[in-house]
Amino acid sequence: MTHPPADAEARRAIAPVICYPDVGLPQPDLALYAQARVGARKLSEVIAPPREAATFEVAAGQFCRISSVEGAQVGDLNLWNARDLNERFYSGKTRALHGTHVSLGDRLWSSFPSLRPMATITEDTLSWYGIDAFGGSVHDVIGTRCDPYTHNLLAGGQYHHCCHSNLIRALADHAGMTLAEAEPHVHDVLNVFMCTGFTRDTGQYFMKASPVRPGDYLEIFAEIDLLGALSACPGGDCSQAHSSDAAVCHPLLIEVFAPQEGALAGWVSPPANGYDRSHGR
Ligand SMILES: [Zn+2]
Repeated sequence: MTHPPADAEARRAIAPVICYPDVGLPQPDLALYAQARVGARKLSEVIAPPREAATFEVAAGQFCRISSVEGAQVGDLNLWNARDLNERFYSGKTRALHGTHVSLGDRLWSSFPSLRPMATITEDTLSWYGIDAFGGSVHDVIGTRCDPYTHNLLAGGQYHHCCHSNLIRALADHAGMTLAEAEPHVHDVLNVFMCTGFTRDTGQYFMKASPVRPGDYLEIFAEIDLLGALSACPGGDCSQAHSSDAAVCHPLLIEVFAPQEGALAGWVSPPANGYDRSHGR
């Protein structure tokens, strides 16, 4: 530990500045989305079984609802541009733009060079939760996804139903890829329903029992054609353990809804980012 300088307290007392004030961000027309959702009809549904993942497609302009159905359960979500898997959800930039946890009105942003909203959160029955006394909140973009490599590093052994592996198997089956081909496409997730934060004293990543209950849901509006994969995490409600079969796990329901013709008048699917990619040369 180094010795603090004489003006240490004065340096600490400097007020923070928000890195990315959201005034510059194009704002979604939530009223239009809500109106379009009223007359939407259900197109399909799929279940992510406990300790497994399921894939689903949502066309631009459609809605996707992820619901807790049988018991408190966390889901690890990956999203890709359905036409180009190289464009995928960018957890780090979403965090930088919207904060550690996302809710109503926040966008889920895609990777460089596209960097555009892939989806907009249009409903969240857990938006009441806010930030608790521990600094915890719901739907985080600060975790990665549970994976067998970290598990092997910390505890040894071979566990095959971490979200990372579940997402790989699901994507491989959907896209007709080998597991080795699918693995590089799996990326840091949106932790749907997961309650997490960083401890104030040590800055460590923590989880606690998810406040989600059957009937709760998170709904997104697809801004571009999406391929999604959702893993019902082996951690269950993530109150105790993950990366094992110890926790009680439940399925998650994924439903896709299409608005009626003309209900999205004025909305256009966002184009790829406008930077010219010349990088100064
Ligand atoms: Zn997991």
